[in-house]
Amino acid sequence: MRISRARVGELEVFGIADARPAPVDPMCSYPEVPRAAWAPHRRWLTEDGQFQPDLGCFLVRSPDGVVLIDAGIGPGPVPYLGDARGTLRESFGELGLTFGDVSAVIFTHLHFDHVGWASVPDASGTMQPSFPRARYFVGETEWMFWDRGPVNVMAHHIDAFARIVRPIAEAGLLTVVPDESALIDGFVYCRLPGNTPGHQGVLAISNGQRCLFCADICHCPAQVTEPLWSHRSDVDPAIGRATRQAIFSELADTPTLLAFGHFPRGADLGHVSRAGSGWAWRPLAGD
Ligand SMILES: [Zn+2]
Repeated sequence: MRISRARVGELEVFGIADARPAPVDPMCSYPEVPRAAWAPHRRWLTEDGQFQPDLGCFLVRSPDGVVLIDAGIGPGPVPYLGDARGTLRESFGELGLTFGDVSAVIFTHLHFDHVGWASVPDASGTMQPSFPRARYFVGETEWMFWDRGPVNVMAHHIDAFARIVRPIAEAGLLTVVPDESALIDGFVYCRLPGNTPGHQGVLAISNGQRCLFCADICHCPAQVTEPLWSHRSDVDPAIGRATRQAIFSELADTPTLLAFGHFPRGADLGHVSRAGSGWAWRPLAGD
């Protein structure tokens, strides 16, 4: 499955896997988690015990327009991912849409796998915005983190920011907003720091129903049960742990739908429920 679906009030939500790279040893992604600790979570690994996250984003179709939350890995080839190529354009085609239909692109954060399609090279190699009618949004803390030149961040993220995001800003298409701002009608940023300092979720509300796009506070459903596990991309693991615990505590056993771009399609949209002294992930398909 490459596209998952849910309805939130008048909104149609589509979870789109832009790419599904080769599986890796879970200790590569979660270096502090012993191999044996994965035993209760084998369902989230491949048959041979490897970790294979989707590299996804979300499209929301509303009566007012089409909103893209994060922008995948891009057309590639992406050397860091074995020359992987994103398939977002084909997924738009399956939904009867084109990039010209997008009215807003909202970045949760600016890691390379969330900005890839924001701009693409034209025939002369000059980067051009991929979504010609869209306003692009990013939070202020996140923008400043990358604009100032972050330290202790892997080179492929810095390269993607310079090559893909800067041209959008220089073209005057990127709107930097205060953290926790209301964006377009029905969409609000909420701070979920840890993966990056300015990492934000996007809360969508329609007819009283809510969906929180949680981006990279988790990379695997096992982290709902194991919120102390940190993915190696977390810039501040301690803050990431606190963010997970706070948001699960707030939203467990509520009707708010949660969306995670790195969970496998079919398990990327769901609810958090209380389980013993902790929490469990209940994918929508299994509700
Ligand atoms: Zn990511």
